[in-house]
Amino acid sequence: MNIPLAQAHFTKSASAVKDFPTDSRAEVAFCGRSNAGKSSAINALCRQNSLARTSKTPGRTQLINFFKLDGDSYLVDLPGYGYAKAPAKVQQQWQHLMKNYLVIRNALCGLILVMDIRHPLTKIDWTMIRWTEHYHRPLYILLTKVDKLNRNDTVKTLTKVTSDLEKQGIDCGVQVFSSTKKIGISQAQEKISAWLSEALEQTIDVN
Ligand code: GDP
Repeated sequence: MNIPLAQAHFTKSASAVKDFPTDSRAEVAFCGRSNAGKSSAINALCRQNSLARTSKTPGRTQLINFFKLDGDSYLVDLPGYGYAKAPAKVQQQWQHLMKNYLVIRNALCGLILVMDIRHPLTKIDWTMIRWTEHYHRPLYILLTKVDKLNRNDTVKTLTKVTSDLEKQGIDCGVQVFSSTKKIGISQAQEKISAWLSEALEQTIDVN
């Protein structure tokens, strides 16, 4: 089953579990530090210019955005994290909302962690990685803005990130990506589509 990501359309924003869509059978969520390039990556993967907004104001209510695809599947834009100026209350809200989402969301079949290739695996990225491991959620990493690095530094960073993850026993795919130069788009689309199709097929089997 191929799930075309270009079909994605905004359905709702939620700040609490009670507002999450109830008809989701499979969903892939995107997370990452603020400014890492998450919104741009979602737009590039869906081949739309303004699906996920690329500018936001830190400190405002943290929202989870749901974009519906064919067959009761969704892409989910989780609130960015690690914004130094965000007040403690906002950071606590973020933690609460993220944990709730990761714990209760049965339809969640994979998480895409977006990191700026120039600043990968920050402390808060590791927190996120540990949570996905703890809640048994499959993880895949996009090292974005690869257009900002030369080939040598790209290879070095990719090798280092892969090896750091392996050393910590984290089993996940890693690829380079660029929203502006359209690098790695089809590879990431295939991963997301495969996760969604597999989850949808399993829910059909159960029913
Ligand atoms: P978010 O906060 O993680 O959603 O990040 P955005 O998608 O809003 O991107 C933050 C900034 O990085 C914006 O100025 C984007 O134009 C820029 N950006 C995002 N992706 C890329 C990329 O692949 N290459 C380059 N050069 N800039 C990018």
